[in-house]
Amino acid sequence: MCGIVGYTGFQDAYDIVINGLRRLEYRGYDSAGIVLEDGNNKLEVEKTKGKVDDLVRISENLKGTSKIGMGHTRWATHGVPSDRNSHPHLSNNDKIALVHNGIIENYDTIKTMLTEKGFTFKSETDTEVLVNLIQYFMDLNTETDFPTAVRYALNEVYGAYAITVMHEDYPGVLVVGRLGSPLAIGIGEKEYFIASDASPFVEFTKEAIYLEEGHMATISLENGVDIRTISENSKIEPEIQELKLSLEQIEKGGYEHFMLKEIFEQPKSVHDTMRGRLLVDEGVIKMAGIWDHIEKFKNANRIIIIACGTSWHAGLIGEYLIEEYARIPVEVEYASEFRYRNPIITDKDVVIAISQSGETADTMAALKLAKEKGAFIYGICNVVDSSIARITDAGSYTHAGPEIGVASTKAFTAQLTILTLIAFKLGKHNGNLGNADFMSLIAELEAIPKRIEDVLSSTHELVQNIAKDFVNATNFLYLGRGYNYPAALEGALKLKEISYIHAEGYPAAEMKHGPIALIDENMPIVIIAPKRGHYDKIVSNVQEIKARKGKVIAVVNKGDTQVSAMADYVIEIPETSECFSPIVASVPLQLLAYYIAVYRGANVDQPRNLAKSVTVE
Ligand code: GLU
Repeated sequence: MCGIVGYTGFQDAYDIVINGLRRLEYRGYDSAGIVLEDGNNKLEVEKTKGKVDDLVRISENLKGTSKIGMGHTRWATHGVPSDRNSHPHLSNNDKIALVHNGIIENYDTIKTMLTEKGFTFKSETDTEVLVNLIQYFMDLNTETDFPTAVRYALNEVYGAYAITVMHEDYPGVLVVGRLGSPLAIGIGEKEYFIASDASPFVEFTKEAIYLEEGHMATISLENGVDIRTISENSKIEPEIQELKLSLEQIEKGGYEHFMLKEIFEQPKSVHDTMRGRLLVDEGVIKMAGIWDHIEKFKNANRIIIIACGTSWHAGLIGEYLIEEYARIPVEVEYASEFRYRNPIITDKDVVIAISQSGETADTMAALKLAKEKGAFIYGICNVVDSSIARITDAGSYTHAGPEIGVASTKAFTAQLTILTLIAFKLGKHNGNLGNADFMSLIAELEAIPKRIEDVLSSTHELVQNIAKDFVNATNFLYLGRGYNYPAALEGALKLKEISYIHAEGYPAAEMKHGPIALIDENMPIVIIAPKRGHYDKIVSNVQEIKARKGKVIAVVNKGDTQVSAMADYVIEIPETSECFSPIVASVPLQLLAYYIAVYRGANVDQPRNLAKSVTVE
């Protein structure tokens, strides 16, 4: 999530910070801000909702005033994008400025503690809590110096962060720390750079330290870079690396395309989506949007899920989840059909809209219609404060981080994660999901990021090899049953979107009712066949395909024998409860689509005719 830039040296800090923020724009953001130390060691802050250009418009007077400063592009997680919620945030005594990427999970508890001590808050962010916690530690004991107070504060918070902090009484000093979010320190001649990745400073220096998890550093021209562990304050010898990547490669995190980067981000994005919501030790799912309106859900006649494209596939899986675990009837509608077919909607209906961008025109129009008819509207969006997020009565953000590749990957698995949380929460509440099952399911859900990680490492190379054999394919079939039928639809959509190969997804049993006519030795068929999910039936489907010489690419659980024996290609994924299998199975299918498209020379990040945010109907 988003960007940090810091600088201390001999050049104009304003220029370095602003240009650095521009370099980080590719990450997606909604607000921008800067702080510089002026000639009198005072902190000058400017920040605004909007783009770096908007920031420049209000801050140009700071140009040439300072040689040390830092900036931030925010991608809102806590509190809407607004001037006040933008970073940097100042402590109550206006002496400390902080920029932060990530999420402080226990900000609420700390905020309560600080409020009791008399602290006040100007923003709704989790970040402002951290900067005041630093002040709190310095106030508590005047002997505590600035870096020590930062360390104390970081020891109190959990979640994910990359931070950079400045203190008015410590001129020339930048303190940084990281856990979960990246931060690089560029080492120049008599200058230091800080940035979320090396792109802001790659033209000035090729030497960088990538701060490790749980480390912090105090940086000044006088004393260089002093790295410590946050937990123990143990000194760490810096490991300086030579930057070999081009600017473009750095922006893509070393990956060839944003799509591949985003596929590989899924262990983190799924984890981030659950962060602060899934509390396995306490045995609860915390979702204020659901909880505050629990009666609406409990008394709903039915839930209608409205979406388009990939989000619609997530909605179908949501239907399986909610019906299985909460036993509330669910209908899933294409937004574009729903809005024009005079649907029956009452004030007893709950409508869930799913949209990555939160700007999808058809979904937006369908929601307005449902709202007019009195339904309760719930949004699942990735982009904070997007149009859909604003018109809904309540909702959950997916927190997947900005998705740049046009073909959705990490937003899809994040949507599935939210729908899973909703289904379990509602089921637990209305008694359809007993405590023992609930506990075992949430423990399994917590481990899903690890499962995704395993699948990424165990299938990446294999899928690349499989993809090579299908570069010239003209058609593909994707089949699955139960939860994996929508996963098959999504697999086919991914391939269509980026490789331009015609692909169809079907429920495996429907094959007999039409598509089987297409099967011959030239037809590749991807079949999702995990152990827990009508496995025996799928075995028969594979037999039917093989009898017609179709080429089977099977996604099976580790240790599978029956389907694997018949399949031409086997991709193994770990065994999970059936309801989690679409999340895990989607990962190799994303990779397959990606590599086939790459080998065909297609522009995977910006496929022809497609837009990331479909704001027209
Ligand atoms: N959680 C912080 C906020 O909402 C930081 C978000 C970011 O990473 O940009 O302000």
